[in-house]
Amino acid sequence: MKPSIQILGLFVACSLAWINGLPAAFPAIADVQSNIDRGPPNIVFLFTDDHAYQSIGAYGSTLVETPHLDQLAKSGMRFDRCLVTNSICGPSRATILSGKYSHANGFLTNNHGVFDGSQVTFPKLLKSAGYQTAMVGKWHLVSDPTGFDYWHVLPGQGAYYNPPMIEMGKQIKHTGYTTDIITEISLDWLKRRDMSKPFLLMCQHKAPHRNWQPNLKHLGHDQDRKYPEPSTLFDDYSGRGNAEHEQDMTIAKTMSKDDLKLDEPKGMTPEQLEKWNAYYKPRNEKFRNDNLQGKDLVRWKYNRYMHDYLACTKSVDESVGRITDYLKANGLDDNTLIVYSSDQGFYLGEHGWFDKRWIFEESLRTPLIVNWPGVVKPGSTCSQIVSNVDFAETFLEAANVPVPMDMQGRSLIPLLKGETPADWRKSFYYHYYEFPGPHSVSKHYGVVTDRYKLVRFYDKDVTYSELFDLKTDPQELRSVFGEPTYASVQSELETELARLRVELKVPDQDPVEARRGKQ
Ligand code: CA
Repeated sequence: MKPSIQILGLFVACSLAWINGLPAAFPAIADVQSNIDRGPPNIVFLFTDDHAYQSIGAYGSTLVETPHLDQLAKSGMRFDRCLVTNSICGPSRATILSGKYSHANGFLTNNHGVFDGSQVTFPKLLKSAGYQTAMVGKWHLVSDPTGFDYWHVLPGQGAYYNPPMIEMGKQIKHTGYTTDIITEISLDWLKRRDMSKPFLLMCQHKAPHRNWQPNLKHLGHDQDRKYPEPSTLFDDYSGRGNAEHEQDMTIAKTMSKDDLKLDEPKGMTPEQLEKWNAYYKPRNEKFRNDNLQGKDLVRWKYNRYMHDYLACTKSVDESVGRITDYLKANGLDDNTLIVYSSDQGFYLGEHGWFDKRWIFEESLRTPLIVNWPGVVKPGSTCSQIVSNVDFAETFLEAANVPVPMDMQGRSLIPLLKGETPADWRKSFYYHYYEFPGPHSVSKHYGVVTDRYKLVRFYDKDVTYSELFDLKTDPQELRSVFGEPTYASVQSELETELARLRVELKVPDQDPVEARRGKQ
């Protein structure tokens, strides 16, 4: 583009921005042309809690059908290595909003975290650039949402049935299934929004978070299928250290009667409870009569878990279909950036586990599917290391809003266009802080590359490291830390880990401990 045309383009774009009531967040010159053509894109962020990529058809799963998510991937890009900075609910959300790691945004654990809503977030920046912004569903950051024209959220973890919610500070009691309710509130906002402005909608589900209570219409969706068992369902954690041995997140020992639907749920209407009992009661009676023991008992629990978890994901998939159908029916699909993701990965029986928290693959990797007609090539995939710390920067660049210098991720827009910058990250820093805490997973941090993972566990009686070679050991069953053949790899990873900690300004003292020391 010649300079004179660039200047003309900038003038036109800024004029359009002025007409639309946008303040002086002028678009970058390189992207002016696309803005003249289409205007800033709408952004729809479809988000779930604990949705394992292993249960999504587009990621190769055959556990359950996910036609709407699969369609989103067919018409967009599937990221195969989207890694989270800290694999736990609240901290992941704080990272997404702030574009920063937990130590930088201050929300380190679910246990003690309160999100500082006065800090800069991408919704605030979009709002001040003329976007209309809405947040619906699970928030889970303790403080009230900031940066939104409209918010309607679940308190804390929220309930699966008949959820109380908070609409702009006011308590509201809903009747029905929470995933459907969040979808309906989102659609309702889309219908009555200010049509003259581009918008950001964050539609964030509770599902499929523990305790995996399905929509009653999906009970029995699998016709009592026996699910294929992960080869590590009976993992004995040999080849690894204290942390893996001492966790409390196994299907065998940790799952409660409530998780397994052996107790009647609370908070249902009599009609709902009747449907619940029609499905669970006869199956629970058979289970009690069978008096299963040992591995057979674990297998029963695993199959009950799969039925319930996957039923919850069916409702999520339906929600994706309803929102994308609305966008299409209203001519919004052409210029809307749709992102599907979850706050982190989840175990579906691998290593005998449910839950998340670890730097290991099923926990670290989260689904990411991006649809943006005219920018993203339909049916494309990306194997580069990307992260939830990149989302804020991506949304800001898409809207041509300058990215604050202290955000720690990087916009995915080049990757979405099918271009990989030569200096794209080859390594990734991870840090988990919530110990002591639920599931008793030791604090750890580490560096991840396309092939290796170096992990340092600390905070229990001993501090120790593990090293995994994903090429020879994709299931991460045997640490090779200290083995002579890996000496040079280990040394390189140690150097890279130290470099990343400096680059990301990770404090030497664990920030949770530092806070405790001050109290
Ligand atoms: Ca979560």
